[in-house]
Amino acid sequence: DRATLRARLSHTRAPVAVLGEAPRPVSAPISHPWTPSSWRTRRALQQPTYPDQEHLARVENTISHLPALVSPGEMRALKAQLGNVALGHGFVLQGGDCAESLEETSEGVTDNIRALFKMAVVLMWGSQEPVVKIGRLAGQYGKPRSADTEVIDGVELPSYRGENINGAPFTPEARIPDPNRMLLAYNRSAGTTNLVRALASGGFGDLKRVKEWGMDWSMGTAKGREYMATAERIAESLHFMETCGVSPQQPVMTSTDVFTSHEGLLLPYEQALTRMDEETGEWYDCSGHFIWIGERTREIEDAHVQFAKGIANPIGVKAGPTMKPEELLRLCDELNPTNEPGRLTVITRMGAGKILQGLPPLVRAIKREGRHVVWVSDSMHGNTFKADSGFKTRSWNRIMTEVRGFFAVHEAEGTKAGGLHFEMTGKEVTECVGGTRKIKAEDLSQRYESLCDPRLNQSQALEMAFEAAEILRS
Ligand code: PEP
Ligand code: MN
Repeated sequence: DRATLRARLSHTRAPVAVLGEAPRPVSAPISHPWTPSSWRTRRALQQPTYPDQEHLARVENTISHLPALVSPGEMRALKAQLGNVALGHGFVLQGGDCAESLEETSEGVTDNIRALFKMAVVLMWGSQEPVVKIGRLAGQYGKPRSADTEVIDGVELPSYRGENINGAPFTPEARIPDPNRMLLAYNRSAGTTNLVRALASGGFGDLKRVKEWGMDWSMGTAKGREYMATAERIAESLHFMETCGVSPQQPVMTSTDVFTSHEGLLLPYEQALTRMDEETGEWYDCSGHFIWIGERTREIEDAHVQFAKGIANPIGVKAGPTMKPEELLRLCDELNPTNEPGRLTVITRMGAGKILQGLPPLVRAIKREGRHVVWVSDSMHGNTFKADSGFKTRSWNRIMTEVRGFFAVHEAEGTKAGGLHFEMTGKEVTECVGGTRKIKAEDLSQRYESLCDPRLNQSQALEMAFEAAEILRS
């Protein structure tokens, strides 16, 4: 009946109360007075060296007086939703570009958000639980790099570090870090955040028109026809709900909150947007709802962890194959000393060949110590390789193998597989190989548009959602 449907689809379920004591820390927490600028006394990796410090200071000052992009109330709502996932209810979908472009069009952003919605509806159907939607957008500009410089045809230049830092063209001028880029990124982030809000309040209305899902590719193969059949069943359910009186205009259908997220890499920018919430006295980084710490900047004593410690946002930390269980527990001590469910998401990025060995020790340690975390799988970053043609790529099959491994480990350990994190786009780019449309290494040059890592295109991303929904359902 309608009440059941409502309850099933509701995104606003009250957070479950948690009983019990705060965990016993595995280490003495690093104690020093936190301020939004206290990270500056720490080693800060992956930061640009600006040639003009005065210019930098002027820009930081300007940004510190600009409006917050997101509000503490929204961040608390996301934390509550993530808290439910940490305690076993719901599923997270986080996705978007590896690196956003300042040249992205409104149509491009809209396509990305639509793709995320479609995947979310498929996953919701699969899990029969609310799906927390988090875009890698409206601030996903700064990129950590494996080397400070890049050599092409014997010419060495500083590496490209993302649109908020320097420019992608391989010229000496473009590669000079420019503080003005932070202002450009702020402005674009404000526009994108606004677009996300507008689309999110538009509801699922158009999602029941399967013909508009862009699935014309599906009918050529048996697998594709299965996906299409699933899509049609989902569309039927949505129609049925309407027949029952749950119209797309009613809150249950329009409360499709979409939250924003990015790697909190460029600390001067993050600091400039960190504001105190008058209501609670807590500090929030108002550059985006969810901020994560990357694999390359997660040293406990370093600036990024010490900055994240003091903001009340829901945060994430990436965990690759070198993460030790003790290290993860220490990160929990630092980043979530009160063991608040929803505060900390661990985004594992092991690689298809390492997940079955790499994930269980982490999961066991967290379970043994009674820590509340949301486990999300980034099945992209451990599976990057260079094709013979020279393009950085990833294979759909390897990504899927890691997704399967992630579900299998949590199933075996009796823990909650909390969600999936993808680098993806709503466009039919050719950056990752494989999928039903069988993109091959020699096709990559046709439409390779990523500024950084290869993304799943719209059909590859949807196929991923159908496969994951199948696993969730079984
Ligand atoms: C990323 O998410 O784009 C990224 C750089 O990931 P990681 O820190 O896991 O390498
Ligand atoms: Mn990436």
